[in-house]
Amino acid sequence: MPVTFHVYNTLTKEKMPFEPMEAGVARVYNCGPTVYGRPHIGNYRSFLFADLLRRWLEYTGLEVRQVMNITDVGHLTDDDVADSGGDDKVEAQARREKKDPFEITRGYTAMFLQDMAALGVREPEARPKATEYIEEMVTMVEQLIASGHAYRVGGNVYFDVSTFPAYGRLSGNRVEDLVAGSRVEVNDEKRHPADFALWKSDPAHLMKWETPFGADGFPGWHIECSAMAKALLGDQIDIHTGGEDNVFPHHECEIAQSACANGVPLANVWMHAKFLQVDGGKMSKSIGNVYTLSDIEERGFEPRHLRFALLRGHYRTQINFTWPIMDEIRARLENLDEVAVMLHRILDGGPAAADAEAGRALLDSAIASFEGGMNDDLNAPVALAALESLRKPLLEGQVGAAVAADTLAFYGKANEVFGFIQVDKQTADAEIEALIEARNAAKAAKDWTAADAARNQLTAMGIELQDTPDGVVWRRR
Ligand SMILES: [Zn+2]
Repeated sequence: MPVTFHVYNTLTKEKMPFEPMEAGVARVYNCGPTVYGRPHIGNYRSFLFADLLRRWLEYTGLEVRQVMNITDVGHLTDDDVADSGGDDKVEAQARREKKDPFEITRGYTAMFLQDMAALGVREPEARPKATEYIEEMVTMVEQLIASGHAYRVGGNVYFDVSTFPAYGRLSGNRVEDLVAGSRVEVNDEKRHPADFALWKSDPAHLMKWETPFGADGFPGWHIECSAMAKALLGDQIDIHTGGEDNVFPHHECEIAQSACANGVPLANVWMHAKFLQVDGGKMSKSIGNVYTLSDIEERGFEPRHLRFALLRGHYRTQINFTWPIMDEIRARLENLDEVAVMLHRILDGGPAAADAEAGRALLDSAIASFEGGMNDDLNAPVALAALESLRKPLLEGQVGAAVAADTLAFYGKANEVFGFIQVDKQTADAEIEALIEARNAAKAAKDWTAADAARNQLTAMGIELQDTPDGVVWRRR
């Protein structure tokens, strides 16, 4: 297993050692959500993969400059073909909800951020919104026109794919095949059917901006990410990620327009997470299995159970989501939590192996296996198995006090990467309930000072209280 981080690059179709352009710093751009609906568990997989990558880069000692955009300009229903035709998804949703499109994107952005926080996703350095970078997009489009890579037809601007011979390298889609397979809309105003829109003019469009291209209009989806990546991370970045559906046309088009505008390749490494399967197939509204975080919580699971479920498989392999799998996840996570409980017990003077160094070799091999797994293109299953292997020697009393201390330190560090295990010492439920009782008694006696003191103590212990008609409910934050 590799001792340095190796990544699979969709562009070259091979694993390669990861070497950032600037020593000690990784520049990473993640394609974010289009905010016209609440994200579902399939979307979360790609965002959690981005979070795992960032956390692993940090574990290896790099400073990570991470940007994940929010696409709050409605891109079009035909964006899965290269040239953006069809209806605007945000505006369509706005019509359904009888709201302003900007209200729609604001609302769903807030929902997305809440879900990300609940799932333990670390905040990137920036979350640019496409609507805030229109000027940068227009500048890039103007550059492409000036250099002959793009052309205007009325108020529309198209990228001329014939000017970029490497078009198709990422996805393997050759321009000739695209036309034959009609993955492009035949549109009379384009020079070549595979040309894609950089800017569309449409005075009837609700989300529109004034530009030098003629009538008011809006950017093509692809140019948004190229412009935001350039504005925040520079002409060239180390890693660009997305879901497998982003490979074509989105990333193919980003590569072409950025290279032509900037004169250097946009990203050295392209990484893509596979789709999540639900109930063994594609999730669908008609089956009713397009689940969101609320559905997960309504079934009695915590967000960290979902985080585990979505990170447990290698990001480039197919993983499946079912409710019975969630039950297994819960049990596996309990076992991982238990490792921390057993380690704390030893450190608090509980029974341990007589030899303080007992279990050292097992710990060393678990660390090697964890790091080797993650270094091998984020092979999470191998890394998780390494963490799970720590449980048996603890159950069998084979771990000495010195090794327990080192194991706990490693376990905490490993959980900085995965983020779903309870590693900190947990306060016993009985202690929490006694404090709640004391607070209730103080409230009944109108002793507000004592009631507040009890509540503050609980807050300091990481316990959140909620007063409900059935009494006080508590949970760990
Ligand atoms: Zn993007």
